[in-house]
Amino acid sequence: MSDPSHPNDNYDIAIIGGGMVGISLALLLAQQKRWKIVVLESQPMDAAALPEYSPSFDARSTALSWSSRKIFQSLGIWSQLQRCASAISSIHVSDRGHFGLTRIQAQEAGVEALGYVVENNRLGSVLLETVANTDIHIRGAAEVTAIKALASSMRLSINSQQGASQINSKLLIIADGVDSSSAQKLGIQQHKKSYGDSGIVANISLEKPHNGIAYERFTDWGPMALLPLGDFQNRPRSALVWTQPSDLAESLMAADDEDFLSRLQERFGHRLGQFIGVGDRVSYPLALTTTEEQVRRRLVVVGNAAHSLHPVAGQGFNLSMRDVAALAKSFADLPEGADIGSLNHLQQYQRQQSADQRDRLIFSDNLPRLFGLSSSLAALGRNSGLLMMDLIPPLRNHFARFGMGLDNSEVDYGQS
Ligand SMILES: Cc1cc2nc3c(=O)[nH]c(=O)nc-3n(C[C@H](O)[C@H](O)[C@H](O)COP(=O)(O)OP(=O)(O)OC[C@H]3O[C@@H](n4cnc5c(N)ncnc54)[C@H](O)[C@@H]3O)c2cc1C
Repeated sequence: MSDPSHPNDNYDIAIIGGGMVGISLALLLAQQKRWKIVVLESQPMDAAALPEYSPSFDARSTALSWSSRKIFQSLGIWSQLQRCASAISSIHVSDRGHFGLTRIQAQEAGVEALGYVVENNRLGSVLLETVANTDIHIRGAAEVTAIKALASSMRLSINSQQGASQINSKLLIIADGVDSSSAQKLGIQQHKKSYGDSGIVANISLEKPHNGIAYERFTDWGPMALLPLGDFQNRPRSALVWTQPSDLAESLMAADDEDFLSRLQERFGHRLGQFIGVGDRVSYPLALTTTEEQVRRRLVVVGNAAHSLHPVAGQGFNLSMRDVAALAKSFADLPEGADIGSLNHLQQYQRQQSADQRDRLIFSDNLPRLFGLSSSLAALGRNSGLLMMDLIPPLRNHFARFGMGLDNSEVDYGQS
């Protein structure tokens, strides 16, 4: 049965997955006013009811890099995001029980902030409210049951509350997250390396103000990050991402709030004073996932569906934003009448992004392992590394630029 509200749907671009990356890409493409775009999302899509169901816009917070800020600026939504984002004025990196310590300052790097922390559900509300004012077709609670590559389009079979339907699109973009079922439907191989760790995420209320400092602390059980958030009920807050071996994470998830906070305090110390309270805790199993193919004729895989990284350095979403900004820009440059699904063109995009993707992947994969090693030689190496960064400002500056996503990017993201 065809869906009567969407008869004979033919699109230029269909995006499967209306998460952080899929929606951001749809907005970048809609700006060009050239393409008929549809986003297919398996969850209902309603900005007002996000926290309950959205796997993307959930209880997490995301550290946005300077490059992501520039991309959101180019979309004209940075001022809305900035209102609910906390600026990172400095990053404090330390290794529990060792002498190395480094501080990376925004001022020294010559920027207003090293990054911005925003709660995912706030980010989701801004993105979905913006999408509602475009002519992007959003189809929530829609399940793609089959994908077929035809000569001049991709044909998608869809099940939704309105019944079964089909659409054709000149280009298909897969943005349905880690373990992408759409990529699997097309026989695209995915590689997964489990870290055997879980990342516990929660908002922590603090005794002392965080003063815009992001703490990255490496402990013998795994790295923890406390990122500055806006106040809640007049209390300063930080967003915790605490990597733990999965069995320890399970016991932390089962602990009552008081026990959880005292274990956290014991691992982190008292730089932020006493930890006063903890919000909902969510645990994510951590793995490095990559896909064998990111492009085919009429097909691109982006976001977590293409590469999902360890969250230790807050790189995953920021990297994906640079990918989708580069992809959108490549379509803007297409001459009138050119085929948007041309393999040659899509391969050029992939070549352009490969160095950025490779560098982030290696960095996020190695960092927790380097700090996870307890041998004294490894400890010496990482501590002298941290000390060197503290003693040699250009090295620290390079690290800061890497974190901000400004190091090897060739794309001009728009306004600075
Ligand atoms: C604990 C943690 C902390 C993190 N912190 C940071 C950070 O500070 N900075 C940073 O840059 N990155 C961070 N990341 C990474 C970041 O969260 C991801 O890069 C980002 O979520 C990827 O977004 P996505 O849209 O590709 O995938 P997702 O967020 O998974 O969204 C996928 C969407 O597709 C939908 N979907 C799934 N299957 C289907 C289907 N078959 N059909 C239709 N729709 C479907 C889902 O419902 C969802 O809406 C963190 C990750 C974790 C786990």
